[in-house]
Amino acid sequence: MKLKLIALSLLCLSAAASKAQRISPDVEKIKNKTLTIQPIMHATMVLSYDGKTVYVDPTGGAEAFKGLAAPDIILITDIHGDHLDPATIAAVNTANATFIVPQAVADKLPATIDKENVEVLDNGEKEKEMGIKFTAIPMYNLPEAPDAFHTKGRGNGYVLKIKNKNIYISGDTEDIPEMRSLKNIDIAFVCMNLPYTMDVNQAAQGVLALRPKVVYPYHYKGQDVNTFKSLVDAANMGIEVRLRNWYPAK
Ligand code: ZN
Repeated sequence: MKLKLIALSLLCLSAAASKAQRISPDVEKIKNKTLTIQPIMHATMVLSYDGKTVYVDPTGGAEAFKGLAAPDIILITDIHGDHLDPATIAAVNTANATFIVPQAVADKLPATIDKENVEVLDNGEKEKEMGIKFTAIPMYNLPEAPDAFHTKGRGNGYVLKIKNKNIYISGDTEDIPEMRSLKNIDIAFVCMNLPYTMDVNQAAQGVLALRPKVVYPYHYKGQDVNTFKSLVDAANMGIEVRLRNWYPAK
């Protein structure tokens, strides 16, 4: 009996511990249906709308997605390990998943993934899947250089159009003209970290040009996102800066 109780409390403890790893999702209404935004870690998130589930840059193994629906769409931005993690792709249930990826990512997907389920988008190309329109947006470092962390054309940021709302996921980029000039963005996920992408100042300037209704700093390891928020708030209170903890304790 005692042993059983101990075993039970251990189970409860581990359940609580695994829950603590994931922060609460945000919900938005789009045409009377709910968009759920679940940050997972760093650049990894899950977006769900109208029964469809999109995993963005899935990393963290099966554990990171425990209790969430299996993906209908897996969206990947680039080849680096914090965006493309073959071990996580192998671990999650991809039976019904369509991959939307740049060619460089398609080339590195696990061999077990059926090519029929992989849609390759180059920068600027569009694809409609399950009611969501995906547009691939360039993502790259400035100034452009062949030895940059991110060369133009290799990776994709994305705009997801769900009904009348536009959601921008920057991928790893600096404040490139293609980002600054996007129109009618409702929700933006914008990266900031050095030396790989941009600092909070540059990100704030890019976001002020982009003018989304809501911006989530993500992929911000080591950066002071409070400074990012102050910079944006000081210049445009019409942009809601949503600070969330993308680095929950393990
Ligand atoms: Zn990255």
